[in-house]
Amino acid sequence: MEKQSITNASSSSSSSWIRGNCIGRGCFGTVSKAVSKIDGGVFAVKSVDLATCLPAQSESLENEIEILRSLKTHPHIVKFLGDDVSRERTTTFRNLHLEYLPEGDVANGGIVVDETLLRRYVWCLVSALRHVHVNGIVHCDIKSKNVLVVNGGSSVKLADFGSAIEFAKPTVGIAPRGSPLWMAPEVIRREYQGPESDVWSLGCTVIEMLTGKPAWEDHGFDSLSRIGFSNELPYIPAGISELGRDFLDKCLRRDRSQRWSCDQLLEHPFLCQGHHSFFTESSPRCVLDWVNSEFEEEEEEEESNGSSVESMVSAMAKISKLATSGGAIWESNGWTEVRVDATEELGAKWEYPVSSTRLESELETTDESVTPPGNEEESVSASRSVMTCEMLLLVVLLLVVENIQIYATFYTSIIIIIRILYCCCYHHQINDKKKKIAKRNIYLSFSALTFLFGNLHVIRIGLSISRELFYVV
Ligand code: ATP
Repeated sequence: MEKQSITNASSSSSSSWIRGNCIGRGCFGTVSKAVSKIDGGVFAVKSVDLATCLPAQSESLENEIEILRSLKTHPHIVKFLGDDVSRERTTTFRNLHLEYLPEGDVANGGIVVDETLLRRYVWCLVSALRHVHVNGIVHCDIKSKNVLVVNGGSSVKLADFGSAIEFAKPTVGIAPRGSPLWMAPEVIRREYQGPESDVWSLGCTVIEMLTGKPAWEDHGFDSLSRIGFSNELPYIPAGISELGRDFLDKCLRRDRSQRWSCDQLLEHPFLCQGHHSFFTESSPRCVLDWVNSEFEEEEEEEESNGSSVESMVSAMAKISKLATSGGAIWESNGWTEVRVDATEELGAKWEYPVSSTRLESELETTDESVTPPGNEEESVSASRSVMTCEMLLLVVLLLVVENIQIYATFYTSIIIIIRILYCCCYHHQINDKKKKIAKRNIYLSFSALTFLFGNLHVIRIGLSISRELFYVV
């Protein structure tokens, strides 16, 4: 069956296999399906054309062959089957033979929605990565594209060791290896590339699995400077559980000495809890079985000691969770609430002016009969002069068309001050009814004018200023 699916095959003159269709292409080589002439077994062959390839491409393939040859087989690492050089018609290829994994990579498979499946994939990856690190190797290119799906989507294997290096002592001024958006900050800064750097990339890959996109948006140099030289962390998607978020927190620490090792990550409850429910194959067991309460305690302790960055990330994630849960549209809800509050408050004051402010309650205590009737005329003329002042100011305002918001705010403030001064000067002389009218006029003139000339912010700021002024008066 597999043998029949190999079409357009070209037999390599010196080898015992037949090349089939291209099944994948990367920067460093082409991956084709191949079938053995001896036993009909199907495998994948990663090749470079020795005549036309760039030196970096052949070096990467040679490096991958060396690394895979040196690594003992692991259930979650693509199996190395051999290597050779083949002459196919006029072309000479350098080939790496790998087990054939036809189910594609995680990047092509879309978002991993089910968290149990995500945890299983991550467990496979960490287990593979641990094996790599224990053998003194750093993978250097952990990302979804290099994680191949197996067993009908129930498990994954780590592939593409073209960028891997043997881990020696940290060197200064290293040449960064891998894919920039997955690189750890210290790699971007060319300071260091070790097992800890793989753990950072693992964190980015988990986010990628959850969102279907790289953890950092690709804005070229700007992204590199954000990763390498800022204090930012990738945004952790809202959908992930608290355990998952904590797991990511342990991977995505800017200070590499604070990042967890693969050994520690395998003991994290995100991978440990329910471990046996999602693995039937014989896999390494947790050294430590974490208990929920213990974990919560630790979390609380960390929360109290945690840095502001950590708490900010958690807060952002929580806000985002709120924003997405229940299909609610966060922004519109938030704004509507604010508007409703403001209008309700205003409405309430219009409906119940007597009890709404301190000024009003103070005015209420003034007995109408105390006001000398002879002073009413005086207060009316004062009111008229205030109106005249207002009209003059309005004309000035209308003449100035530029910076209308500034002038509107200025004008409104003047109106309010004049009216308040008026209230202060004459509040002994006018009766309750007029005081109420005066107060309403203040609100009315303020609201109408700011509505006309100001914007929402001006209204809100002005409203609170006027209220405060009332309290002061
Ligand atoms: P990159 O540009 O990421 O460095 P690369 O040139 O190193 O890529 P690989 O990532 O190894 O190439 O392979 C390219 C693609 O080929 C993979 O994304 C995958 O889809 C496919 N592929 C690789 N190995 C296998 C395999 N063993 N079986 C099936 N398909 C594979």
